[in-house]
Amino acid sequence: MQSTIKNVKKYCNSLTEYSRYTTREVFIGDVPLGSKNPIRIQSMTTTDTMNTIATVEQTIRMVDAGCEYVRITAPSLNEAKNLENIKNELRKRGYKVPLIADIHFTPNAAEMAARIVEKVRVNPGNYVDKKKFDLIEYTDSEYQEEIDRIRERFTPLVKICKEYGTTMRIGTNHGSLSDRIMSRYGDTPLGMVESALEFLRICEDENYHNIVLSMKASNPQVMVQAYRLLVNKMEEEGMSYPLHLGVTEAGGGEDGRIKSALGIGALLEDGLGDTIRVSLTEDPEFEAPVAIALANRYLGREKHKPIKPIDEILVDPFIFNKRKTSEVLSIGGSNVPRVVSDYSNRKIVSQKDLVDIGYTYDEPTDKWNLSDTAADLIYLGKNILPFDCPNGLKAIYDYKIWEELKNSYNSYPIFTTREFLQSGKKSGELNLVKLIINDLSDYLIDKIKNDNSVVIVLETNNLHGMPEQRKAFFDLIINKIETPVIIKRDYPEILFENLQLYSSTDFGTLLIDGFGDGVWISSDNIKITEEKPGTYVKSFIKRTESKEKIINRLLFNILQAARQRISKTEYIACPSCGRTLFDLQETTEMIRKRTEHLKGVKIAIMGCIVNGPGEMADADYGYVGSGVDKITLYREKNIVRRNIPSKNAVDELIEIIKEDGNWVNP
Ligand code: SF4
Repeated sequence: MQSTIKNVKKYCNSLTEYSRYTTREVFIGDVPLGSKNPIRIQSMTTTDTMNTIATVEQTIRMVDAGCEYVRITAPSLNEAKNLENIKNELRKRGYKVPLIADIHFTPNAAEMAARIVEKVRVNPGNYVDKKKFDLIEYTDSEYQEEIDRIRERFTPLVKICKEYGTTMRIGTNHGSLSDRIMSRYGDTPLGMVESALEFLRICEDENYHNIVLSMKASNPQVMVQAYRLLVNKMEEEGMSYPLHLGVTEAGGGEDGRIKSALGIGALLEDGLGDTIRVSLTEDPEFEAPVAIALANRYLGREKHKPIKPIDEILVDPFIFNKRKTSEVLSIGGSNVPRVVSDYSNRKIVSQKDLVDIGYTYDEPTDKWNLSDTAADLIYLGKNILPFDCPNGLKAIYDYKIWEELKNSYNSYPIFTTREFLQSGKKSGELNLVKLIINDLSDYLIDKIKNDNSVVIVLETNNLHGMPEQRKAFFDLIINKIETPVIIKRDYPEILFENLQLYSSTDFGTLLIDGFGDGVWISSDNIKITEEKPGTYVKSFIKRTESKEKIINRLLFNILQAARQRISKTEYIACPSCGRTLFDLQETTEMIRKRTEHLKGVKIAIMGCIVNGPGEMADADYGYVGSGVDKITLYREKNIVRRNIPSKNAVDELIEIIKEDGNWVNP
């Protein structure tokens, strides 16, 4: 019962029935992708490509961790030539993994690599051209001249790929669009798509179709919109090239995983994606397990309970638009999405129990201090709070308990739909109603519509949960209901690394589509994987941390990644590669330690001056390697300190932030 979505906004088979979007099958060596092939896992080396043995050994670790393709940077002809030695050494050691050359700027390196390895990746934003950040006004004929120039320089590579059976990825990067594209489309998803299509049309004219496409951005919202738009445009032009999914410069640790899951997961939910690369500022072998966990979640997904089809996409999937809601006691309206903390399984003994969700009690002054990640609502279920709920926090009780409360200051009920329809007593300010899509009867809709104290808590028990919840949002829009909605998901017993990825996908997809006035995770048991050598799994949580603390941090991080609620500094860090001029992981950690209290400031940490500045996306400040022990600092896209010694660079970065008035003391 697949729906026939109105073609104008179509970007997947169905918004409600899971199926992989069918693309053309493309072979990379002996490992095909696209069509009905499994979602392939890949990553990129970080070693110096001229160091054959180090690159071979890292490649082997990546393959052992689950990579099915390995990408290696080839910035110049020398590195491109050395791919042959790397390939031979790998084959000698029994590793047949297809190799991909990563090309920037230099056609001669690309043309050499295309004769050696199974695939080349070109970035249409910087193939042939060096970016000058010039906003030139192009007349139509000047624009055409530029395209003709690209055609002349790019066609030889296409011909070599055709001759050698080499595949090509046309990989657009939001941060490095050409001046030509920027001047006509800006750094928009449409600009990203057009950037790829310019190159793609040249390939099609040469009757060359061994192509994979990507639309990476460090902002998952932009990335998701660009991929959707790309599929929409391909449908219009009768193309069906496979998609390589990735969020670029995602950073490392928990943030990097959340950003990646949010962007990649949002597309996988709709059946898009043929290969995944998760980019983390960590050793590359740690990327594959994350990508595998994301892909494996969809094995068997087509067996989900049916969801009624959506025939028309009511929101523009290519532009962010927040669903209009009314405000109910600071929930909904123009408020940021609210965070609910679930304490229904934890007995609260003293004020200290709320430290985990951002509330610290100062006994001498009888005051509460709130952190930037203080939860907004606390669900207590049947547990009674043994002290007054702090201002800023709303206590939520099961209806039957709330009804009997002696002191209901700052306390509100949560109802099942039956209780809501039958109860006599209600709060005059805020009543939460728990429901799943099938509860939305005409009668209930009518009751909710006329009650401006209601906030819906939207749950799901469908395996295809996000699309079911999305459909519920569509139903609310159709019925012109502006009641705020808190999205709730239950993950009964789950490994933390899966919780992190699944919840980022489930909440993130709805948030970047403008849905959700609040977020709530409930889980009975979060398990932690033992970090053992050879497993390449990282947990990032301490065994001593409570479930409530872990979930609270996770929800704020998801809201930050979806750019819906900013509660801390944002780091845009390249994953590093053979071009990196300093230890990225160490440097990122050092910068983070000194700046992580700068709420809302975006800092990019990039390994090289060749690609770094172009790929810093919308960072406020850039810390870019420009030589051995040399750093160049940027304010947005402008250089403010050039080639300064790296030992002073963090201090100078802080000076610049202070000059701009963006510094606060920790
Ligand atoms: S910005 Fe980082 S990942 Fe990109 S080419 Fe430079 S060092 Fe490599």
